[in-house]
Amino acid sequence: MDDFKLVIDGRLVEGGRRTPVLNPATEEPVAQCPRADVAQLNEAVAAAKRAFPVWSATPRSERSAGLHAIASAMEARFQEFVALLTQEQGKPTDQASYEIGGSIGFLRYFAALDLPDKILREDDSVRIVEQRYPLGVVAAITPWNFPILLLMMKVGPALISGNTMVIKPAPTTPLTTLLFGKICATQLPAGVVNVIVDENDLGGLLTQHPDIAKVAFTGSTATGKKVAAAASDTLKRMTLELGGNDAAIVLDDADPKVVANGIFNGATLNAGQVCLAIKRVYCAENIYDALCDELAELARAAVVDDGAKQGTQIGPIQNRQQYEKILELIEDARLNGNVIAGGDRVEGPGYFIRPTIVRDIANDTRLVQEEQFGPVLPVMKYADLDEAIANTNDSVFGLGGTVWSSDLERAAKVASQIQSGVVWVNKHLDLPFDVPFGGAKQSGIGAENGVEGLEEYSQRRIVNIGKDLVT
Ligand code: NAD
Repeated sequence: MDDFKLVIDGRLVEGGRRTPVLNPATEEPVAQCPRADVAQLNEAVAAAKRAFPVWSATPRSERSAGLHAIASAMEARFQEFVALLTQEQGKPTDQASYEIGGSIGFLRYFAALDLPDKILREDDSVRIVEQRYPLGVVAAITPWNFPILLLMMKVGPALISGNTMVIKPAPTTPLTTLLFGKICATQLPAGVVNVIVDENDLGGLLTQHPDIAKVAFTGSTATGKKVAAAASDTLKRMTLELGGNDAAIVLDDADPKVVANGIFNGATLNAGQVCLAIKRVYCAENIYDALCDELAELARAAVVDDGAKQGTQIGPIQNRQQYEKILELIEDARLNGNVIAGGDRVEGPGYFIRPTIVRDIANDTRLVQEEQFGPVLPVMKYADLDEAIANTNDSVFGLGGTVWSSDLERAAKVASQIQSGVVWVNKHLDLPFDVPFGGAKQSGIGAENGVEGLEEYSQRRIVNIGKDLVT
């Protein structure tokens, strides 16, 4: 087993203390993990600040080569990353492979991306140029559902733009990030990437630190609001990718047998712990019973087990706190609807919950209104499509959503009425590297991915040159 260390100023260092990281499938420790103290947080920020002048002045081609070098080093340890991710996060091995593969893909995508100077206007009297320059030290704070993929959406654009970083993963899934940090320590100049791990106690200090220029945060809406407040004193730049309560609207012309699989997978991938998971379904009344039956059948057939075992479809919930929260929501749903599949905790060690389908549940119940972040899906019936759209939009969240139909034009018209950052038709979770993604309303501020995501890691500077004085 790797000996995990914090990464500060290019050195692998012991934390102020060590506490275990648990495998959520067994509740056994995967490793003892170093946890940083406040002094180490300050050292990490100082190291990133010292590294910034040189890294930001390094030619773009060399920064790009640095990103490719990290990506290649990850490729060389691909299986190790996959196994570690399954152990600490719980997801099945095939999903872990997808996450590591996507992470490498993000690094290579951003390594090739550039924001060259743009001439906005040029004539006899004026030349106006838009330039971009890096911000400084970026704090990247990540959640526990996709610990590495969501990090690479930040590392790629931050480093290629010339920023340096302090990374803080979620306390329950820090190990793949520490392995990544170790790679950075060998491939990049000292201080460019620093990794500290906390016990949910350092995020506030990091986000209010005066030497942090930008916070790239993915996590819950509740914590995102704290980040926004902490960052306000120095008016830091921020990207906030927050929670969601995405609806699937199933139109009356959809074939339940055809769409059920996509909806079920959209709700239960990564045990439902996906910001963009389908978290509630509004189904036309003529196909409601049939869709509920199909979903229940899929739920009963799903293989729920340790993600490391071959054939597992749905792994455990990542941590005990989240596990207890989902069980509580199921109990509430039981009182307000009909649980037609699942609904039980799985006996034995591990935080396993069988996929659960709840029908005949009212729109104003907790399971429908809150972000469950687990494999528990409420399915509501509608007679009036406009009402389903209104219910979908009647939410503080606006991250994603899906529309399912046999008529693509009609579905596209419905999609155009959903107030969220992304809406898919007849598919789910397709997030190409080059397409911007970001939440509406309380699901976030700013964008990740694509050129728009890259722009968030630099400051626009307009150089406006008058030509009249010089002939
Ligand atoms: P969380 O908000 O509890 O934690 C996220 C990170 O913030 C962790 O690293 C945590 O240690 C840190 N943190 C805690 N307190 C902090 C503070 N005061 N200041 C700064 N950082 C602090 O979220 P979670 O439970 O780990 O993740 C699940 C949530 O993340 C869900 O709501 C999910 O929808 C959301 N999410 C959003 C996206 C997206 O792209 N929009 C992607 C994945 C997850």
